[in-house]
Amino acid sequence: MCKCPKVHFYEIEFKLDGMRIISKHKNCGDALSEVQFIEFEKQLVKLWGIESK
Ligand SMILES: [Zn+2]
Repeated sequence: MCKCPKVHFYEIEFKLDGMRIISKHKNCGDALSEVQFIEFEKQLVKLWGIESK
């Protein structure tokens, strides 16, 4: 799991796995922690144009 002190949105690779979103930090190749992911989830929703209802 990624332990980088600073992760930028554009450094993350998102993939859809069924209903789940898999996030990976490109710089270290590790998956984001849940805390990190929650921070970026809103931006991702905007980017992909999905609204959570
Ligand atoms: Zn990282």
